[in-house]
Amino acid sequence: MEPLILTHMTIAEIPKAEIHSHLELVLRKSTIQELAPQFGIELKSEQDYYDRFVISEPMGDLGSVLNKFLDTQKLLASEEILERITYEACEDAFKNTNTRILELRYAPTFVQQGHDNLTFQSIHEAIVKGMKRAETDFDMAVGLICIIQRILPVEDAEKVTQFAIDNKDTFVGLDLADNEVGFDSKPFSPFFLKAKEAGLGITVHSGEANVPNAPRYVKEAIEHLGAMRIGHGVQIHRDAEAMEYVKGLGIPLELCPTSNWLTNAIESKEAHPFKKLFDFGLKTTINTDDGGIFNVNLNDEYELLHKTHGLSIEQLETCAQHAAETSFISKEKRQKVWPRQLDS
Ligand SMILES: [Zn+2]
Repeated sequence: MEPLILTHMTIAEIPKAEIHSHLELVLRKSTIQELAPQFGIELKSEQDYYDRFVISEPMGDLGSVLNKFLDTQKLLASEEILERITYEACEDAFKNTNTRILELRYAPTFVQQGHDNLTFQSIHEAIVKGMKRAETDFDMAVGLICIIQRILPVEDAEKVTQFAIDNKDTFVGLDLADNEVGFDSKPFSPFFLKAKEAGLGITVHSGEANVPNAPRYVKEAIEHLGAMRIGHGVQIHRDAEAMEYVKGLGIPLELCPTSNWLTNAIESKEAHPFKKLFDFGLKTTINTDDGGIFNVNLNDEYELLHKTHGLSIEQLETCAQHAAETSFISKEKRQKVWPRQLDS
């Protein structure tokens, strides 16, 4: 294996691993422009596209951001489109940002909403097809995470859990997503424990919004849902005890700096506590969350942390290594595409 020459490497060239990316919201701009008119969304100008499909300024609150996602959702209307957007998400990650390990997550309930022609199974098969085609064409390992939406009734969670377990050969993990404020994670505990028992990796969106209970939510996700990774977890920076707790367990944080700024989880890009969490010794990973709608790719996030937060190229590589080592994709599959030795 060739040793990496750190000093001559540009940010785009760093081999990357991304473990927090929502498939439904990484659509390519040209694909949206092509598809939107078929669904009654006229985009007469470039500006129309940005107005309708891109969030570029901090939104009022997390709830209103989630609402804006619904326009993109309308386009996810057929197996053909789902296969295409999955393939394109992988292709863009590989070609534009040198991402070698990529976990894409999606919520079957979200994709299916308003699309009566689709079933969970037909959605999943189309996505798997796109994923496998990308793995054949590009030197990368891709894994899928199934999402439970915490804003839906618990009965839906039960159905989605069973669906994930039934397809555990093509899902690597289970996630709990949507705004956690007002939606306690504890009722979902039995589903997550069952999925973990079945061998799926567990990650939970938690500690994202800037609310006083955020550090407690993170602790609950670990204790009650068996979270092996935390989606965001950024708010623990305000609580030394919570930071110590997460560090002690070696649980990685799936940090998404631009997303946190756009959803008002933090007050500015400059104020993001990424470096603080990294310096504390937490397993920090760098992710885009919703790359399409936030108009950001992994290079942009690395660039932000390098230029504004002072992380060196070597420190960025350490974060990439954290992501590569904590991915739920099998180690055998990851090691084939990753240039460094993986310890886990
Ligand atoms: Zn997310």
